Amino acid sequence: MRRKNYDVRCIECGELLLRYVKYGKGNLVNCYKDRIIEDNSVKKDGDVRCECGNVIGIDRPHRIKMKSHAVDLE
Ligand SMILES: [Zn+2]
Repeated sequence: MRRKNYDVRCIECGELLLRYVKYGKGNLVNCYKDRIIEDNSVKKDGDVRCECGNVIGIDRPHRIKMKSHAVDLE
């Protein structure tokens, strides 16, 4: 399977929130926590946010369920 590193940035302010290793094609629906290389996001009340307040996903036990419209992938 194809393996690629992504920088996940806040679409509102451009802050680098996650560095993530993704396998295969398709949209980023889930970020599995054991594949997150760097995490600058804020976890609060079950949400995963940027410091600017933009909610980028929902915090689950082993993954972040992403709101794909809230982030920019590079
Ligand atoms: Zn932001």
